[in-house]
Amino acid sequence: MLKDRYPVMQHIADSTHVDKAKYQALYQASVNDPEAFWGEQGKRIDWMKPYTKVKNVSFDPHNLHIRWYEDGTLNASANCLDRHLAKHGDTTALIWESDDGNTITNVTYSELHAKVCRFANVLKAQGIKKGDVVTIYMPMVVEAVVSMLACARIGAIHSVVFAGFSPDSIAGRIIDGKSKLVITADEGLRGGRAIPLKASVDEALSHKDITTVDKVIVYKRTGNDINWVEGRDLWWHDLEAGAGKDCPAEEMAAEDPLFILYTSGSTGKPKGVLHTTGGYLVYAALTHEVVFDYKPGEVYWCTADIGWITGHSYLVYGPLANGATCLLHEGVPNSPGPSRLAEMVDRHQVAILYTAPTLIRALMAQGEEHFAKLDGKSLRILGTVGEPINPEAWRWYHEVIGKGRCPIVDTWWQTETGGIMIAPLPGAVDAKPGSATLPFFGIQPQLVDATGNPVEGEGNLVISDSWPGQMRTVYGDHERFIQTYFSTFPGNYFTGDGARQDQDGYFWITGRVDDVINVSGHRMGTAEVESALVSHHDVAEAAVVGYPHDIKGQGIYAYVTLNAGVEATEELRQALRQWVRKEIGALASPDLIQWAPSLPKTRSGKIMRRFLRKIAANECEALGDTTTLADPSVIDVLIESRLNK
Ligand code: ATP
Ligand code: MG
Repeated sequence: MLKDRYPVMQHIADSTHVDKAKYQALYQASVNDPEAFWGEQGKRIDWMKPYTKVKNVSFDPHNLHIRWYEDGTLNASANCLDRHLAKHGDTTALIWESDDGNTITNVTYSELHAKVCRFANVLKAQGIKKGDVVTIYMPMVVEAVVSMLACARIGAIHSVVFAGFSPDSIAGRIIDGKSKLVITADEGLRGGRAIPLKASVDEALSHKDITTVDKVIVYKRTGNDINWVEGRDLWWHDLEAGAGKDCPAEEMAAEDPLFILYTSGSTGKPKGVLHTTGGYLVYAALTHEVVFDYKPGEVYWCTADIGWITGHSYLVYGPLANGATCLLHEGVPNSPGPSRLAEMVDRHQVAILYTAPTLIRALMAQGEEHFAKLDGKSLRILGTVGEPINPEAWRWYHEVIGKGRCPIVDTWWQTETGGIMIAPLPGAVDAKPGSATLPFFGIQPQLVDATGNPVEGEGNLVISDSWPGQMRTVYGDHERFIQTYFSTFPGNYFTGDGARQDQDGYFWITGRVDDVINVSGHRMGTAEVESALVSHHDVAEAAVVGYPHDIKGQGIYAYVTLNAGVEATEELRQALRQWVRKEIGALASPDLIQWAPSLPKTRSGKIMRRFLRKIAANECEALGDTTTLADPSVIDVLIESRLNK
């Protein structure tokens, strides 16, 4: 029998920040008296002028306002750097490993501080001031982190664009943010390939609607030839050489913007999410320490790119505010081969590993033998984020990577939420594979029906009160902010996700509400059906959508990627339908199963069901915005072999 509950491990409970009793007590306190709880938690960061007001919030769509610590002042970069210098200046802040693995560089807090101050002076010399927007299109190098913190230091608002997005996507984000300056590199390196970053920026800037960008600062990574625009383009190293080393941190109000970041675009046009300084930093730092049970001295590795919110909150702001030692990897964790991840864990003695289900499934499909050499004794805590993790992948992660000794924190959250919202604190909450479990301190999740009434069992996931890390607006479009998040279920923040709550109060994210399938009047989340398919030993990945069906209203259409070497036969198709019938029930059994060599994914690795829905419905002409797809050619292959023609 497979276990479906994994109790808190004794060796973790013995040394954790938050044990069972403390979780219960603190959670109750946090929702009974948010002012007192967050007033206390706010003290974990350094304020230039202490706050006297903690919370000033209304979710009423007609009077929406969200303010935390509003009369306090601080600087985020000073919190990530300066305050560690006296005692921990020599502690390693970043361990950087190059794409090819041949270069490893340690950067201490003092060194990072010095780099950030110099580069902050560079930005100032280019005329960048408090409130200006700076676009960062950088590979995973130390200078990417330096760029972000240098912006924060002088009060500029960074807008990081994942260094894999197309010129069109960069242009769109520059226009939307009215960005004044772009920071990029000549090229990036990922999985042995050179990515022409500067060339993409050049093309983006040729867009006729861009009028705000005067300068492009270019970091030299590969040294290969690039196009150069005199008067506009400037080398990082030239500017840095002439910059002073002292740069006092700008005093920012708690509610001054820290950054803009666009959502992944899984469900539609990406939204420019604006986060502010004080509340965001308190929330990122607290969740990083408590959810990962971080202890000083441990090496922490988050594999997310800085172009995603996970990279912002759990590679930069949270861990650095806590004085952590972070591994920063330039490349891809399964390149040049599946054993790269395991080798890096052992090489750097990683204690905490935070990654995504898409990577776990990719590693799983390669076979366990690649992990035979993994010692893994340094590992203590494993984390996942980005999509529901199917129990099959959860167990594999637990057994093969964690050797059965490491709790897994399945963290549900969003770009909009700034930090982790629902997750099992490793020393306090028993895990159940596939469930993000229970809410973090101060978070009040609720399930409501279509009319907004609370329901038991399954429904739309809303959050009924504010938390400090919450987004404050859609940049430049406050009306869209109110419409998207606060008007569907007035008085609540609407997440767009559906969830189920079990008898223990645990939350199971069933997928996007838009993705819910309605078969003969029964509502079904995509996550459950996909999870059943993936638990079959021949299946590597699956994506499930609904399509119009004469009798049932909606039928179930499944796209299935088989494991390496498995033959796609009619027998297997039948076997998979039987399998789902046995695992969930007859209603969930797919009507159509299409073999998919690969699935359309966002650049952050999430399956984009909106395209799959159109292909399944045989509406292939107007697919909509495909710019956030990792590999658009996947779509053509799927259209070609669609089943519902
Ligand atoms: P867009 O909002 O532009 O459509 P997106 O929602 O994919 O894109 P993100 O903010 O990166 O952009 O992703 C947040 C979403 O990812 C959540 O709303 C949820 O659907 C999914 N998600 C993240 N973590 C988990 C998790 N641990 N379990 C289940 N789902 C998760
Ligand atoms: Mg979203």
